[in-house]
Amino acid sequence: MDPETVNADLVAISSLTSGISRAYEIGDILRKRGITCVIGGAHVTALPDEALEHFDAVIMGEGEGPWKDFLKDFENNCIQKKYYGPMNVSLDSLGAPDRNMIHRNYQYASINTSRGCPYSCSYCYLTVFNERKYRVIPHETVLDDLETLRDESIIIVTDENFIGYTKKDIEDRKILLRKMIDRNFLFLWGCQTTVSLADEPELMDLMYKAGCRAVFVGFESTSTEDLAEVGKKHNIGINYKEIVNTLHNHKIAVIASCILGLDNQKNGYHKQLIKDLKEIKADFIRVFLMTAWPGTPLYNELNKSGRLINEWDKVRKDIPSIKFKNYTHNEIINARKEVMDSFFNKRNLLKVMLRWVFIERSLITTFLKISFRNRISERIKNNRALTYSNE
Ligand code: SF4
Repeated sequence: MDPETVNADLVAISSLTSGISRAYEIGDILRKRGITCVIGGAHVTALPDEALEHFDAVIMGEGEGPWKDFLKDFENNCIQKKYYGPMNVSLDSLGAPDRNMIHRNYQYASINTSRGCPYSCSYCYLTVFNERKYRVIPHETVLDDLETLRDESIIIVTDENFIGYTKKDIEDRKILLRKMIDRNFLFLWGCQTTVSLADEPELMDLMYKAGCRAVFVGFESTSTEDLAEVGKKHNIGINYKEIVNTLHNHKIAVIASCILGLDNQKNGYHKQLIKDLKEIKADFIRVFLMTAWPGTPLYNELNKSGRLINEWDKVRKDIPSIKFKNYTHNEIINARKEVMDSFFNKRNLLKVMLRWVFIERSLITTFLKISFRNRISERIKNNRALTYSNE
């Protein structure tokens, strides 16, 4: 959409923090042209007054409910400035998304089967929303959506935590998985989940049978003090090596996600992290720099102590956007590169492939693809981080 030429009565935009400056530019142009514009998302939920300098109205919280209210007011020519929807509405009437609206450049097709997470990790953008109740999308909606993705080879399930948080949630997931197995989908898929998955043998087996081959687990750190620092209580006292071993026994690979730059991490911690991640036999890793999204407890704390760099374009997990306690910006960029390089190199890739070649061959081509794409994207991210670095 070109805001200079778009022919519309109303334009609605959703944006993350890293894209918010461009969203505001678009809002300014649209307003000058007399087009009503409205914005939603986590950033403007945290900072609605900032957004109202560029937009006519802000949708805060979960969008579906307030969006309907907004449209009614728009038709009646009486829009308010702020609309709010708690993160607890039923997803029962949610239809499958119109996939024609999704940009073709995404590397993988993605799908949602649930929303919400009751935890409160201090850095997580979800904490911006007041209620974060876990809810599932009706199975038939999910299955209809999956039917449209039948020809895909890999799908990413983007739920905060596919398995949910209670025994009831787990039973619901088992029913969904059995229905997926009945449909005989051929694609492989991965999802985000918590360490609790390793306590559920039947669930792991069903996930495997339904095509799940890898899970992304937020380990965040291998130090108990770090986990306490960010409020990741459900990981404290967990033996990651046992978790990974159990998942491997159920033929599910593990992508371990970690954060660098916590106050508790001394300069040089990343070398220990490399050792720990190899020891626990993570198959792949994602390493993020500590990032403070507006409205999160971490943001509020760092704001008070003057450690934020409030340049929104830089607030992304691969660019330093806060003053770290024990790393300079260049040091932390190089530390992140060192950890990523220690996994994404030919020797390690060969080791991971040998781990799986006699157990689950379907993972080999996926590993090669991920590794190839990762090498390219990491080079881009690293150059961007060095260019944007503030020190
Ligand atoms: S467990 Fe994950 S989704 Fe839930 S609050 Fe923590 S980081 Fe966010």
